[in-house]
Amino acid sequence: MSGAEEAGGGGPTAGPAGAVPAGVGVGVGVGAGPGAAAGQAAAAALGEAAGPGLPDEAGLAGARQLQLQEAAGDPDAPPKKRLRAAEAAEAAAAAAAAGSGKLEERLYSVLCCTVCLDLPKASVYQCTNGHLMCAGCFIHLLADARLKEEQATCPNCRCEISKSLCCRNLAVEKAVSELPSECGFCLRQFPRSLLERHQKEECQDRVTQCKYKRIGCPWHGPFHELTVHEAACAHPTKTGSELMEILDGMDQSHRKEMQLYNSIFSLLSFEKIGYTEVQFRPYRTDDFITRLYYETPRFTVLNQTWVLKARVNDSERNPNLSCKRTLSFQLLLKSKVTAPLECSFLLLKGPYDDVRISPVIYHFVFTNESNETDYVPLPIIDSVECNKLLAAKNINLRLFLFQIQK
Ligand SMILES: [Zn+2]
Ligand SMILES: [Zn+2]
Ligand SMILES: [Zn+2]
Ligand SMILES: [Zn+2]
Repeated sequence: MSGAEEAGGGGPTAGPAGAVPAGVGVGVGVGAGPGAAAGQAAAAALGEAAGPGLPDEAGLAGARQLQLQEAAGDPDAPPKKRLRAAEAAEAAAAAAAAGSGKLEERLYSVLCCTVCLDLPKASVYQCTNGHLMCAGCFIHLLADARLKEEQATCPNCRCEISKSLCCRNLAVEKAVSELPSECGFCLRQFPRSLLERHQKEECQDRVTQCKYKRIGCPWHGPFHELTVHEAACAHPTKTGSELMEILDGMDQSHRKEMQLYNSIFSLLSFEKIGYTEVQFRPYRTDDFITRLYYETPRFTVLNQTWVLKARVNDSERNPNLSCKRTLSFQLLLKSKVTAPLECSFLLLKGPYDDVRISPVIYHFVFTNESNETDYVPLPIIDSVECNKLLAAKNINLRLFLFQIQK
């Protein structure tokens, strides 16, 4: 999937790299201060042609990611504004029927996602009969079907849909990228393919942060007010001890993050480490009200036999009715031990997978009497990422086990 997404212009899946540029992107936004005039000129030129001096691809990709996340919302996000979009599409359809309206308005109703009726922001999939679905809706439909234990179908024609039955429609993706789109900040129109750069680097109304953010200034506001704010910003004139206080707070959150990574590094030096790929498969409980849960086959790590179980939304009765999706998991020791077995464990994404999971280390002392952990959250970045896992047939992750020896 990841290879194909390159052609989508931006790509809907952030992947592990997506998390990093977000921080970088903020820095770029703040640093862009002096280039205001150039930005304005380029913005003016945007209407006719692509502005000169495109930023390098890597920078642009990072910017895109941030843009997608912040301004436009994640392209994989489930449909949120059905109503408004539906109205717009209806109006466009009416205009098309009347033979009036601009070409782009008529195209809008032709190229929009048949589920959320929005113009797709990234990849576009089609059912075997050609009905278009944006990546977010497509993945959402697959995840819903999995939760209801049904075959996913096209909402338009009810034909079966799956990752192998549906293919992307590059022509539609490219056509959509040429359609005009409104800047979320200044409300001016730009071709979609140029919008991201405009919102990220050129829009005078884009949200920026004060350059004294590093010493604690919380100001953020439209770019055209930035110079005035920065000239009047109180932070550079704060006394040393005032600044120390602010910096202490900031250090603390950094320290927390460093602690996590340091503890992972020190775990890596343990004598007994094991890791394995685990495959969660969906099952149903045979209760009166059946519930979906996931379980892996037995596997051996550190010479012991284990099983992992997972559940969706903490076994909420109808997880398919909720937009929020979470996964929690439990590690069970299946073999007998002669002495308590103290372990740290960590679940991360599997190889070849692009789901974003933050590392969290859990600890447990396994004994013959107490051989299963509580359900602990699998820290997936958000519901969209969670749907990516649920939409797949099996959930593939990688488990690390560290034996703590006293
Ligand atoms: Zn959609
Ligand atoms: Zn269809
Ligand atoms: Zn703008
Ligand atoms: Zn400031």
